Amino acid sequence: MPLHATWYDGESSRARAVQLACVDGVLLLAFEDGSHGRWPLQTITISPRLGSTPRILRLPDGARVEAADSPEVERWFKRTGSRIEGFADWLERRRAAMLASAALVLVATVAFLHFGVPWLAREAAQRMPAAVERHASEQVVAMLERVHFHPSRIPAARRAELDRRFRALVAGEPRSADLRLSIVRAPGIGPNAFALPDGRIFVTDALIELANNDDEVLAVLAHEAGHHVHRHGMRGALESSSIFLVAGVLFGDVSGSSLAVSIPATLLTSGFSRGYEREADGYAFGLLLRRGQSPKAFASMMRRLSADMPDGLEEGPIGYLSTHPPSPERIAAAERAAAGSR
Ligand SMILES: [Zn+2]
Repeated sequence: MPLHATWYDGESSRARAVQLACVDGVLLLAFEDGSHGRWPLQTITISPRLGSTPRILRLPDGARVEAADSPEVERWFKRTGSRIEGFADWLERRRAAMLASAALVLVATVAFLHFGVPWLAREAAQRMPAAVERHASEQVVAMLERVHFHPSRIPAARRAELDRRFRALVAGEPRSADLRLSIVRAPGIGPNAFALPDGRIFVTDALIELANNDDEVLAVLAHEAGHHVHRHGMRGALESSSIFLVAGVLFGDVSGSSLAVSIPATLLTSGFSRGYEREADGYAFGLLLRRGQSPKAFASMMRRLSADMPDGLEEGPIGYLSTHPPSPERIAAAERAAAGSR
């Protein structure tokens, strides 16, 4: 069955309709005016098969024939097509499938980062050996001590009293055996408190001096104990590190992403998510109420902290106050918890 095609002489753009047929390895051309042409297939170069683009047949006399891609043309020239052309065609035909798989990989990655990483971080944090928590925390303290920490100037008697009350507050709580209070003078980070994954809780002289009384300091320490109970430090660090690791795997650079480097760095530079803060607040309010203390102390301390916050602190090295400043919602939640207990 002849095939309709278009013939060009190779010099002008004039097109002539032509019918193609193939007999015994010879291509036959029949023009409308009755003239004929015949060329052995081996003398003809055919363009690679690329999707549904027309096939171009280059004849030895310089003319060319454009024919729609069809199974017949494919069959005639089957022996002359190269493997590479075949692969290019295969790729072309699968472009839609490839785009779909790329989109699927993207969606799966985003879903993994959004849902999978926090879940993995929580599971991994729960199984994290205490030695790893200690090691990461020691590195953070070493970094902080070089820059920020000096011996406290709070009178020793008040420090001992705070330590005693803090121990009594958390006695019998989950993971409370690890909790240790350190009071330090650290002018660079203002009134501040934070928990490290190994259970060390730091509070600065400035925070103690800002508080009206020790109840307010203890309310903040209860919040920090909440971070420890829920393993927020390690979970947050693992989440951030996992994102680095996933990005490293995706984009081919895992060199700078070893967990040993990224966990202390993350602990030092990023604050906790709002979800973690809410969880630690909730724990603190419950703990205070169980010990017969009012979460009102937390609200008044938060108010004092927000009024006192120095301008430069937003870029400070400690995430606790820099990225999650005391917010009206947190103050309101503390007051609701206090009101609910009456
Ligand atoms: Zn916090």
